[in-house]
Amino acid sequence: MQSRRIAIIPGDGIGPEITEATLDILKAAGYTAEYEVLDAGQKALDAGKPAMPPEVVQRISEIGIALKGPTTTPVGKGHTSANVALRKALDLFANVRPARSMPGVKGPFDDIKIDLIIVRENTEDLYAGIEFQPHPDMAQAVKVITRPGSRRLCKYAFEMAKLQGRKRVTAVHKANIMKLTDGMFLDEFYKVAKDYPDITADDIIVDNCCMQLVTRPEKFDVLVTENLYGDIVSDLCAGLVGGLGLAPGANIGEKCAVFEAVHGSAPDIAGKGIANPTALLFSALMMLRHIGENEIAQRIGRAVLKVAAEGKDLTGDLGGTATTQQYRDAVIAQL
Ligand code: NAD
Repeated sequence: MQSRRIAIIPGDGIGPEITEATLDILKAAGYTAEYEVLDAGQKALDAGKPAMPPEVVQRISEIGIALKGPTTTPVGKGHTSANVALRKALDLFANVRPARSMPGVKGPFDDIKIDLIIVRENTEDLYAGIEFQPHPDMAQAVKVITRPGSRRLCKYAFEMAKLQGRKRVTAVHKANIMKLTDGMFLDEFYKVAKDYPDITADDIIVDNCCMQLVTRPEKFDVLVTENLYGDIVSDLCAGLVGGLGLAPGANIGEKCAVFEAVHGSAPDIAGKGIANPTALLFSALMMLRHIGENEIAQRIGRAVLKVAAEGKDLTGDLGGTATTQQYRDAVIAQL
């Protein structure tokens, strides 16, 4: 059988370190693929190209599957986000971010089981990139919400919930204030919900949602929301279950899928060999399940859980002292 081709973008900061550890673990578990390494982020900028070069986008669209490390985006100045460019160019409309508690990992809620998934719209909202400055003392951004965009996202969330046997999908919004934009999103949510009578559909205002996520996180199942709320709420959820070092993500389109951790390039720890590769590894497991490699994904997942439960080879973000490589070796030993 011809081995599958997968695009790899190591990215910036801790990206190359965690990518290497992740691919080592996949290899040790017996997964082989033809990896095609593509440069985006700082490496592309250094070569005089845009942060997400068009030829990289083109290759990912041809290959169909990519595993991507984080790329740095300057705050308030400089180049626009390589991630936003990629998600828009490939129309990766659904950003799926699970948050699950892990036995052995200390978090604010290690005594209760959290198992929720955020499905975030990935191409519209204030991330549409329409910003202008009509006056030196005034800047404006346009929030874009469309019916087709909201409909396909909500449909994806319900289909995913059905496939995974989940019981409830909650729309997160601010339609009490943004009556046209969030109102449209909510309207489409309830229209789609009618096709899934076995799944409870309800909604919650985003500020109340944040409060309830930190008081009763176990009561949530699938959350579906717009781009900006999803970005913020998913980081909040990562914090509930042990931090960004554990939070994976998938960007799903009709034809392509790009798998990447929720976290960024972590410049404060880059190059020190201490980053936690689990978030990217879990993203790779989402990728393996997406392409039907469930058995290998399950085996690696079990090995990670054992390492976490034993607690002696955890990286610094989880209160341990292990380096990225020591953690990688511990996971491989459990395989
Ligand atoms: P960040 O996620 O990079 O880091 C936040 C904190 O979490 C830091 O203290 C960092 O050390 C820690 N952390 C993150 N991942 C970790 C890991 N795997 N192991 C251990 N600790 C980890 O967020 P930031 O500092 O706000 O952003 C840095 C850069 O990353 C920015 O340029 C931002 O635009 C970019 N970014 C990229 C992506 C992406 O490419 N998908 C996502 C978010 C942020």
